[in-house]
Amino acid sequence: MRSFSSLALSLLFVFFSATSRDGRFATSENAFADEDWGFFAHQKINRLAVFTLPGPLGGYFKKKIDYLGEHATDPDKRRYAVPGEAKKHYIDLDRYGSFPFEHLPRHYEDAQLAFLEISLLLPSGDTLPLVTPGTWESELGLMWFVQGPLAKQKRPWSKKDFTSLLKEYFISRKGELKAPSCRKLKKILQLPDTLPCDKVLLRSFLDEHGILPYHLVRAYWSLVRAFELGDEKRILKQAADLGHYIADAHVPLHTTENYDGQLTGQEGIHAFWESRLPELFSDRYDFFVGPAEYIEQPADFFWQTVFESHSMVDSVLEIERQLRAEYPQQQRYGYEERGGVNLRTSSRTYALAYHQALNGMVERRMRAAIRAVGSIWYTAFLDAKKKRKTLPFPP
Ligand SMILES: [Zn+2]
Repeated sequence: MRSFSSLALSLLFVFFSATSRDGRFATSENAFADEDWGFFAHQKINRLAVFTLPGPLGGYFKKKIDYLGEHATDPDKRRYAVPGEAKKHYIDLDRYGSFPFEHLPRHYEDAQLAFLEISLLLPSGDTLPLVTPGTWESELGLMWFVQGPLAKQKRPWSKKDFTSLLKEYFISRKGELKAPSCRKLKKILQLPDTLPCDKVLLRSFLDEHGILPYHLVRAYWSLVRAFELGDEKRILKQAADLGHYIADAHVPLHTTENYDGQLTGQEGIHAFWESRLPELFSDRYDFFVGPAEYIEQPADFFWQTVFESHSMVDSVLEIERQLRAEYPQQQRYGYEERGGVNLRTSSRTYALAYHQALNGMVERRMRAAIRAVGSIWYTAFLDAKKKRKTLPFPP
């Protein structure tokens, strides 16, 4: 059996060579600065999801449809203003091997531990790695430290204990990593007081490659909680946000490191696929997606969604690459007036050719996103109802 640490080490190696992204997509070849489905598609998905809802929830959300549509793009607007926001919109699944990604823990805390680096900044200015995927080995739920000061400890740590320590002391209520003080860290990990330490340094490879499916679980429970409290403002905000992240999970390029074709010379393909195509062609889509359904295991559903999206990444890129060969540059781009300004964008001819070659993929993903948003809203409502028989909402 291949030990976890050697796999982790090789993953770590890949991680180090990666450039982390800040959520900006190339706009030089593409006139749209919009991200994620574009504002247009996000609004449309949230609005159409309302019509999948049954009963009083459907009635109430219909009254609030303008809010849910307008605020469908709030998470993108926060991307540059709020630290920790950008990583919630994607996951670079290819960083973790291939389907079924058996070495990628599905629970957030387990995944943080698997890809976390804890080191000490020494008074000399050097850093001493304490926990990195290469410093420990794991088997049967136990972890042995093979390097660093923790290796001197006699007993192995139970992985469960270590994860709960991490959860308690290293992850804030909002789910962000926070480093404890040197003194506290030594106490938690039972390290000698004499160990020099100026500061505890944390680096999360998980965060660097996106946490979309983990964040969806958190966003889901925030909506359940809002329903339980009957807090209208909170319900609408959480529902609009959750709709956004679910829609993002349906976009193949949100699940790959090559998110804008930047690794294959296809810069601009992100906005081309998810903004330009829906804007040009979605008025011909069939958006009758049927009623929302109760989803037994929302977390599994979110993972399944990103895996489905990821299975389409090769087609999204390969089809465009083949088409490029047939269309010279001057046929691929054109100018269009937007708000009184002439912007360079992909030509309608080229967009049509790509759209046709994708054979209904954009429409299928949009339809799936609408149904998923409706179903998850509905599921959150029913889950809240189970916990609290008399919901103050809907009135
Ligand atoms: Zn987004």
